Amino acid sequence: MSAEDGLKKIISHAKEYGFVFPSSEIYDGLSAAYDYGQLGSELKNNLKQYWWTSMVRMNDNIVGIDAAIFMHPTTWKASGHVDAFNDPLIDNKDSKKRYRADVLIEEYIGKIEAKINKDVAKGKKKFGADFSEEVFRTTNPNILRRQNKIDEIKSKFKAAMGADDLDAVKALIEELEIACPISGSKNWTDVRQFNLMFKTELGAVSGDSGVVYLRPETAQGIFVNYLNVQKSGRMKLPFGIAQIGKAFRNEIIARQFIFRMREFEQMEMQFFVKPGTQEEWYNHWKDARKNWHYSLGLGEESYRLHDHIKLAHYADAACDIEFSFPMGFKELEGIHSRTDFDLKSHEDHSGKKLRFFDPETKESFVPYVVETSIGLDRLFLAVLSKAYTEEKLDGGAERIVLKIPPAIAPIKAAVLPLIKKDGLPEKAKEVLKQLRIKHNVQYDEKDAIGRRYRRQDAIGTPLCITIDHDSLNDNTVTVRERDGMTQERVLISDLDSYVDSNVGMHVLFSK
Ligand code: ATP
Repeated sequence: MSAEDGLKKIISHAKEYGFVFPSSEIYDGLSAAYDYGQLGSELKNNLKQYWWTSMVRMNDNIVGIDAAIFMHPTTWKASGHVDAFNDPLIDNKDSKKRYRADVLIEEYIGKIEAKINKDVAKGKKKFGADFSEEVFRTTNPNILRRQNKIDEIKSKFKAAMGADDLDAVKALIEELEIACPISGSKNWTDVRQFNLMFKTELGAVSGDSGVVYLRPETAQGIFVNYLNVQKSGRMKLPFGIAQIGKAFRNEIIARQFIFRMREFEQMEMQFFVKPGTQEEWYNHWKDARKNWHYSLGLGEESYRLHDHIKLAHYADAACDIEFSFPMGFKELEGIHSRTDFDLKSHEDHSGKKLRFFDPETKESFVPYVVETSIGLDRLFLAVLSKAYTEEKLDGGAERIVLKIPPAIAPIKAAVLPLIKKDGLPEKAKEVLKQLRIKHNVQYDEKDAIGRRYRRQDAIGTPLCITIDHDSLNDNTVTVRERDGMTQERVLISDLDSYVDSNVGMHVLFSK
């Protein structure tokens, strides 16, 4: 299945079963905005709970806040977003389509890389068991020529961006003869910087003084509250502040479903440390976050760590945890050692001291910060895309099953009377009443039991509990497990603890 087909299937499954809908679809949707449906919002809430519990509840020294989306506009001057949160933008004059100049160039490089991969595949076929990919890549003249071309483009692009020379970026696009994928023409405007923040006006104030921004990241809501939390919570270094909330970026190209949206949700944690200890804490959080992802159960092979070579102006170390999405390995979470850049800059712009007084050394200083920042929607896509499975069953039948880790599945168990009479629905509803106190469970009595199983498979319900005639006599039920489709008989009086030990979120935390 191609990457594009894989993503398409997930998008259509997500819509068909109430996970994700295009926003305002009756008006043909709004580009890069999505709504989470009845099951999507459950899954999203479970992911938030998994993050929040492991960050805030399981750590003595991390607390959570919920800051406003609107912030004083100077916040964004201090953070650098007003001056530097830009993408280089270029328009095609014929199609009137807008592109990110850097993405056009990256896609061009991607095409050369695809040719290299094709050459490698051919070589593998030709030389069979004797084939060494490393030797082939470093000696094959075609590959070397292509690799040189890539290196040359990258170095020209880096030099142009480094010097803020947008004319040179345009010249590179022209030199590579990159055409607009829509119009096919090479009729480009100049490249210009485009700020990604959404601007709006506050209340009755007009003009520049009333301008406010929709926050492009949640982190700044944490920085401006550093002292409030430190003082009111009597926090000692090192300590962290966590937050889950919406962020907004006017992305120039927003596609690939919920991977890149203009309105999305972040789960961020800023960890304040003593200057000089940031490297130790950066390594700690890199490890901790990797393990958190592994515990979720999507397979360790689905993750890759990518250390940044070129660092943002505020960072002294940074890496991404990448996930193997249907479109390839891409950033899921960023871990950044942000130095004291943000707090210092807020001190400068606000005139307020944002320090920590160390009672032992009697010194006061601006703490350093290590940040972990994950996109909730990307995590959602990671779960959905790994979970989506098309399976051939014995006997030739097929099923689509979402193998969502049970602890975060939107519906934990379905309660199903075998038939719609003989007192079975009544018995099933008793079981439902008992289970729903702790878990999100669903009742279904329509259609044959096999079809009901398929429906639950398609939404990722880990357990199906069937009430049959024997249940009326011996108070037992059949529990069917989603992935292995195995069945066992369980006493109704044991069901609570059975369900809990199989699908409760505590299962993840005890790992
Ligand atoms: P990218 O390079 O993909 O644009 P970024 O490096 O700008 O991402 P950060 O500023 O580090 O992203 O934001 C932290 C996290 O927020 C990212 O790892 C990602 O999961 C999420 N995120 C960022 N932009 C978007 C977006 N437009 N839509 C959905 N999630 C996003």
